[in-house]
Amino acid sequence: MGTSYHSHRHSRPAIALTAVKVVVLVGGVGGARFLLGVKAALNLPAVGEATDAGADDHEITAVVNTGDDIWLHGMRVCPDLDTCMYTLGGGIDTDRGWGRVGETWTVSEELAGYGAEPTWFGLGDRDLATHLVRSRMLRAGYPLSAVTTALCDRWRPGVRLLPATDDRCETHVIVEDEAGRRAMHFQEWWVRHRAALPAQAFVPIGADEAEPASGVLDAIRGADAVLLAPSNPVVSISTILAVPGIRHALRDTTAPVVGLSPIIAGRAVRGMAEVCLAAIGVHREAGAIGRHYGARRAGGILDGWLVHSGDAATVPGAEVRTVPLLMSDVDATAGMARAAFDLAGVTA
Ligand code: GDP
Ligand code: CA
Repeated sequence: MGTSYHSHRHSRPAIALTAVKVVVLVGGVGGARFLLGVKAALNLPAVGEATDAGADDHEITAVVNTGDDIWLHGMRVCPDLDTCMYTLGGGIDTDRGWGRVGETWTVSEELAGYGAEPTWFGLGDRDLATHLVRSRMLRAGYPLSAVTTALCDRWRPGVRLLPATDDRCETHVIVEDEAGRRAMHFQEWWVRHRAALPAQAFVPIGADEAEPASGVLDAIRGADAVLLAPSNPVVSISTILAVPGIRHALRDTTAPVVGLSPIIAGRAVRGMAEVCLAAIGVHREAGAIGRHYGARRAGGILDGWLVHSGDAATVPGAEVRTVPLLMSDVDATAGMARAAFDLAGVTA
């Protein structure tokens, strides 16, 4: 049984829990890697699920960004959900960090043979099966959360994967260059243009009418700790927060909310997050991102903020701690998760 906190948010003694309920807000590659560490920190197998029934009753719920989701060739593709599912279920190509291991590209080549647009998004043959099953279920009327649960029956990620919303909520990017000012889907900007077109804004299309997927708000309210993975703050975490109700639930929950910086020594470690930060006018620095989320005491969402050794940060109203934040392997990542639990006052 998890224990809820009713004490003051910032003077909570560490207490031992027999089972921990943790909610983690995640994007794709960074989020999935972090989840491996969260599982390991709770003595669960990083990949797959615990087989010895009753050994642990920890509940890890990942609330996953849907802003990258896109219809391609008549199929619904959910990159961040799939990256989490494949990573935690042992199906990921660990070199690329996304997509299926042992992938082949026959269908993509054949589509290109027809000149079928878009040709810039590679859909692997194995991966395609996931999109076919998902699209078929969506067309039959199942919500994305139910479809994800069905797909996870195969992958057994050992974490409950919940899309932030079952509604269509996609990040579009407003760009302006010689060709003028226009909007495009995030994937076109990120994958086709390699984030090189000057971005002016990221707009979560559909967010206004979106609702959190079933289970999201209850998980946040019933958690012992809520963690923000070191995911892209602009197009992963902020898109989740754009779904009405989620930010409020984070501000309202009795669980401490602790975030981990995705920026180390001014760099995104992997990927192109710096460009996204520049576009929204947030300095690429751990403290600036912490202040962008803001302390719960000061109208934001954070009680604690972890930054990498050597980085300094001030987030007025939140406790900042400095620990190694490089996800070089599962052990190192588990150390990050333990530091987050520690800051949240949860002893697993
Ligand atoms: P995406 O959806 O695949 O882009 O993945 P996420 O949004 O979940 O995570 C991407 C972010 O993870 C990048 O922008 C990086 O800033 C961050 N990141 C990647 N590797 C590391 C790492 O080893 N440590 C930390 N702290 N952040 C990392
Ligand atoms: Ca993503």
